[in-house]
Amino acid sequence: MVCEVIENYDLKKHSTFKIGGCAKRAFFPETEEEMVQLLTDLKEPVVLGGCSNVLVSDNGIDGDVIITTKMKHFETENNRIKARCGVKVPMLAREAEQKGLSGFEFMIGFPGSVGGAVYMNASAHSQSISDTFKKCCVFDTDNKKLLELNKDEMQFSYRKSVLQTKNYVLLNAEFELIPQAKEEISAIMQRNLEFRKGKQPSLTMPNAGSIFRNPPNDSAGRLLEKAGVKGLKQGGAQVWLGHANFIVNLENAAASDVLKLMNKMYNEVKNKYTIELVPEVKFVGTKTKEEEELWNTLLNQK
Ligand SMILES: Cc1cc2nc3c(=O)[nH]c(=O)nc-3n(C[C@H](O)[C@H](O)[C@H](O)COP(=O)(O)OP(=O)(O)OC[C@H]3O[C@@H](n4cnc5c(N)ncnc54)[C@H](O)[C@@H]3O)c2cc1C
Repeated sequence: MVCEVIENYDLKKHSTFKIGGCAKRAFFPETEEEMVQLLTDLKEPVVLGGCSNVLVSDNGIDGDVIITTKMKHFETENNRIKARCGVKVPMLAREAEQKGLSGFEFMIGFPGSVGGAVYMNASAHSQSISDTFKKCCVFDTDNKKLLELNKDEMQFSYRKSVLQTKNYVLLNAEFELIPQAKEEISAIMQRNLEFRKGKQPSLTMPNAGSIFRNPPNDSAGRLLEKAGVKGLKQGGAQVWLGHANFIVNLENAAASDVLKLMNKMYNEVKNKYTIELVPEVKFVGTKTKEEEELWNTLLNQK
């Protein structure tokens, strides 16, 4: 294999939550060709970008992981930006700003990659990645072939895309942005950054972004706050005092601490409002029995 490989790769260091065990082997492709080779050769590898929306099991991953952070090439032509899956989204936001292109202002404040952002249909400040999305190239790991998908084929909706239902790995994506005065774009980005300062923990308090999805026509943060979960602790994990839909890893939290806390949060909202919150974070890895039970309880409460 041509690309860099690290054995016993510590996912705790890589994840923004700073939680989780090691992966047996981590591969770091730089090009689409290297990625396709890996996806063809490896048995069911887990694909991760910035690891900013996942909780990793304390057992880690008893297998292979492909980490896309070296797939960071992108190019801009007129109002189109084409980026490999590992490009950090704040970097693309800055590129768009420099080129006087609007549509990526919302991406300035979060630590995801293009692959993770498309997978999650990331959004904020009334913009989402699906707004500017034109097409992408994916590898269909079931049928071992490359596909080009346009926007209609992506099945985008709130925090959803076809990448979550089919075994597709995103290799690159192309976006079409709207020309706008650079100063206006910069001002919006600055405003978005300021907004985030008060509303979400910085990465000096390890976290994985919003824990639960917003239920229809409501906000998970509002419901959780009203249910009184702010400050609730479990082991080294705590519901952030600044916003009730974030869990911060205060001190060496275990994945099971986070899962127990999520169950408590879920139950408080269900008891008060009969609303059943759905996790936004993804749980990956070779789960312990306890983790599996806690996660299944969360998913199968209905
Ligand atoms: C402080 C903070 C603030 C955040 N703010 C926001 C916000 O405002 N809006 C928002 O939407 N999200 C937010 N997030 C969550 C997160 O950053 C985004 O969802 C981001 O897009 C995830 O990208 P990632 O590369 O980190 O994905 P990862 O966490 O690495 O992966 C997430 C999922 O995507 C899959 N995946 C990753 N790459 C690929 C690929 N190439 N092909 C197929 N599947 C892939 C993974 O298997 C996994 O299931 C925030 C997170 C943090 C920590």
